[in-house]
Formats: sequence, structure tokens, C-alpha cells
Amino acid sequence: MTRIGIPIVISAASGTGKTSLCQRLLNTLTQTARSISYTTRPPRGHETNGRDYHFVAETEFRRMIEANEFIEWAQVFGNHYGTGLKAVQKQLEGGVDVLLDIDVQGGAQIRDRLPDALLIFLLPPSMDELRRRLVNRAEDAPEIIESRLAKARDEIAQSDRYDYLVVNDDFDQAALDLRAIVRAHRIGRNRPRALVETLLGRA
Ligand code: 5GP
Repeated sequence: MTRIGIPIVISAASGTGKTSLCQRLLNTLTQTARSISYTTRPPRGHETNGRDYHFVAETEFRRMIEANEFIEWAQVFGNHYGTGLKAVQKQLEGGVDVLLDIDVQGGAQIRDRLPDALLIFLLPPSMDELRRRLVNRAEDAPEIIESRLAKARDEIAQSDRYDYLVVNDDFDQAALDLRAIVRAHRIGRNRPRALVETLLGRA
């Protein structure tokens, strides 16, 4: 029987180190790919269309909602973001685990639509540390940092719907924890029933 991949949702407040941790996870796990979301927000300097996101116009995003082309979609910081159904389905059917770097609204929709998804939420060690990381990133004006911190509190309040909470205090440790969770989930799901039958001389 072909293995069906696992959808792995990773959510966190911005500044928690989610992007770097997801990248480390992709580099250290085999048979894992990142889902490339659709968004209406403009690309940032270093971002490439089709690699970081599929950047689309609002009218195209609306059309995709109407045509049921998203597994989930949400509005985040005034822009629309969504996960394309077809690409994810194809990866899962090909036996690839798919990493979904999406917000808590998306996580809740995935929980409802794909019950065997694995949901992991990343926590900062403290709100002071989160503020420090956002300030050091020097990407945002002070009022934007305050709105990101307020959204962080909202998101953390919804983390109880997630299967695992991982604290990103020490980056390497958090990366090891993430990898251990995914590996344990894979092993737990792929029970080698045929081998058990063979070992018992029943096959
Ligand atoms: P950014 O604009 O900084 O790349 O992403 C902002 C937020 O949108 C992040 O929390 C990210 O996880 C979330 N996000 C990115 N893609 C999707 C998506 O397809 N669906 C949902 N629900 N959230 C997304």
C-alpha cells in the first residue's frame, strides 16, 4: 500500500523563529515538502513568486475561494492567504509529508478538514523575548510591533487546539524537538502490520 503523507501545520506568532525552524525541519527530514501558499500581499525584497508564495491579485484570490480551490484561507494583517487544495493533495498522495506554515485561523480549518493532520505551535520563551526579537529584526515601525504583540497574545491563546507546543528558547533544541515529534508521529502512524503477520508466521 502506498504511504499517504501527513499534513503538518506549524503556527507561531511572528518573531518566534518559525521560518528558520521550518527551514531546518525541511533540511533534516526526508520526504517532506513545504506547501507554497497563495497571498494577496506584495512580495518583500528577497521573495520570489512560486518559491516563497504564489503572489496573486485580490480578484484572483476571490475567484479561487468561489471555485473551492483552497483547503483553508484567512485574512492576516489585512491581506489574504490560502493553501491550494490540488498541490497539497498531490503531494500527500505521493507519500510526501507537507509542511503548512499557516496562522491559527488556518490551523483550525485544517484540524476540521484533515483530521489526521499534525498540528504544532511554536511558543516564544517570554513576551519580553518576543518583543526583543521583533525590535531587533528592525523590519517594523513601533506601532506595527505593538500590533504584532497583540496578535501574538491572541494566537497563543488559541494554541490549545494544537497537538504539541514547542518552545523556541534554544534554536537547536527546538529544531530537535520538532524533528522528534514528526518522526514519532510517522512511526506511530505507519504500523507495519504485514511484518507482524510475517513474524508470527501468519502471512
Ligand atoms: P508573512 O506575510 O509574514 O509571510 O505571513 C504572515 C502570516 O500568514 C504568518 O503567520 C503565516 O504563517 C501566515 N500564512 C502564510 N500562508 C498562509 C496560508 O496559506 N494560510 C493561512 N491561514 N495563513 C498563512
